[in-house]
Amino acid sequence: MEVGGSDAEGREYRNAKEMWREEIGEGGENKKEWYQKGVGYWEGIEASVDGVLGGYGHVNDPDVKGSEAFLKALLANRIGGVRPNNLVALDCGSGIGRVTGNLLLRYFNEVDLVEPVSHFLEAAREKLAPEKCITNMHRAVNFYCVPLQEFTPEVGRYDVIWVQWCIGHLADDDFVAFFKRAKAGLKPHGFFVLKENVAKDGFLLDKEDKSITRCDLYFKELFNQCGLHLLQTKVQRGLPKELFAVRMYALVTNTPKTKIRMQSNSPAIIK
Ligand code: SAH
Repeated sequence: MEVGGSDAEGREYRNAKEMWREEIGEGGENKKEWYQKGVGYWEGIEASVDGVLGGYGHVNDPDVKGSEAFLKALLANRIGGVRPNNLVALDCGSGIGRVTGNLLLRYFNEVDLVEPVSHFLEAAREKLAPEKCITNMHRAVNFYCVPLQEFTPEVGRYDVIWVQWCIGHLADDDFVAFFKRAKAGLKPHGFFVLKENVAKDGFLLDKEDKSITRCDLYFKELFNQCGLHLLQTKVQRGLPKELFAVRMYALVTNTPKTKIRMQSNSPAIIK
């Protein structure tokens, strides 16, 4: 990737290759430490909404609303008006199950969670226990305590694979390898939703939690390498100004025939 980047201390990188070489080594020989530090960071964070949102718990509400509008339009387009009663989703890097509990369980009959930090996953299991679910037609089923770079979804199980605020922990080659494996986990009409912070340009390295924030172009280059097609993308509105912009991407394995029309939730001029 030919875009430059920097870290919080003002260190500049000419390109991503240079940054990755320093962080994980030429042949990825220091990758283990990179991932250990990443998970280690989250192991020290409280299992709460505020914790997984970096102290911005109040962002939960606009985030869930924006995700819901995005998801609804996609489901209608890909799956159709009559909602079948066997919809299954996977929540990747689920943390304490915030996305599953606030959104996915309202749309999917079964949701699986994958999360490497055990005290987060235990909090999710506790909160999403069957007796606390809306009905037994909507339940959290499997809780996998594994990082994404080591996880392979069950073949053909999922209508939607949701990846939010965790992919910055993955090195580029693991990002691409994960999505390539995960494609086989989708049903024929299935799709990915990736919701992430986006840098204005290039990338920003966070040395504290060992993650990178990629720009839109960087993401698109990786989607290409994954063999994924962009079906729809939208910026999340209503977030505090000091935060990164947040973008949602809907990705499919086949070439999309038509672009989906989305209702805009941003103000428009009345003509
Ligand atoms: N997606 C959740 C949690 C966001 S916090 C939400 O939106 O509420 C970031 C999460 O990424 C944490 O739960 C952290 O443990 C997880 N994470 C860190 N490294 C990861 C990795 N290698 N694979 C998958 N998840 C990872």
